[in-house]
Amino acid sequence: MNCYNCGVIMNRKNRSVEHIINASIGGFRKGYNLLCVSCNMDFGRTIDYELGRQLGVFGRLLNIALDRGEHSVSSEVGVIDCERAIAKICLNYYLSKGYPKKYIDGVRAFVRGESSCCAYYYLPVDDVLPDDEVSHIIHIHGGGGVLYAYIELFNMLNRVIVFSMDYTGEDIDVTYCRDVVVGKELVKHMTFRLGRRELEELKGSPPVADVRYERLMKIISAV
Ligand SMILES: [Zn+2]
Repeated sequence: MNCYNCGVIMNRKNRSVEHIINASIGGFRKGYNLLCVSCNMDFGRTIDYELGRQLGVFGRLLNIALDRGEHSVSSEVGVIDCERAIAKICLNYYLSKGYPKKYIDGVRAFVRGESSCCAYYYLPVDDVLPDDEVSHIIHIHGGGGVLYAYIELFNMLNRVIVFSMDYTGEDIDVTYCRDVVVGKELVKHMTFRLGRRELEELKGSPPVADVRYERLMKIISAV
């Protein structure tokens, strides 16, 4: 297996254990053949650190369990785009499921900071959450010529990551969900579908005032 970031062939010495969702925000599922040690550490110092800095507070307020092995490195860099870390979670999940690497170029370039944004704000309108659930959700959908991931962190940070607008692979419809308060995986299926036109429209739409943030703060205040 090759590291998906630098392409080096991985062996027992240089492969790393990568958390699919960052350990700093309550991720437990791991991928073993995704990143080499060096790339894992580079991301840990930069975009992953930034994600933990921005979102870790919600985990602490909710008193969630954290996996061991959380990166404890300090960041020496300035402003980092947290969106890249969010895209990386989706890329980790996609690759950990064994889906084809030929569709990851755009997202990988964005994760590396080499290309412009492929992460867009999106809140599914008919997605009703149980009152007390706080979860991380990753949904991958491939079909109808498009491939995208939808992600929610703490159900509050909602993004669509566009992988391909020219997708010809097999139909993919898979959802991962971890309830971070209860500390277990939930069976969940996202039912919304975005086509080419909807994805194009997302690119132009700015983030809207977030009802989900208020919801999360209400749950936190009851903890
Ligand atoms: Zn690497």
